[in-house]
Amino acid sequence: MPYRCSACGNRTRFDVVATRRTRAFHHYSLGGELTVEEEEVLEERVEEVSCRWCGAAGSAIEEIEDVAPAGGEPVANTAEGGS
Ligand SMILES: [Zn+2]
Repeated sequence: MPYRCSACGNRTRFDVVATRRTRAFHHYSLGGELTVEEEEVLEERVEEVSCRWCGAAGSAIEEIEDVAPAGGEPVANTAEGGS
């Protein structure tokens, strides 16, 4: 879900501290060089979000609803008057 800084109005630049649990396919070459493939996020917990513009954090950062619903259930067509 996107964020919005209520202090300066920023909606695009944030520092996010998060804990992630992931499963990934670690593919090593015979020379020991690692390529991470197929990384899957099993769990993600956002701990702190701060604004890159003004540095506000905590309650100054609000989560906003997604502007466009990304897939999932189709939105029911609730006609509320109008033409
Ligand atoms: Zn800000």
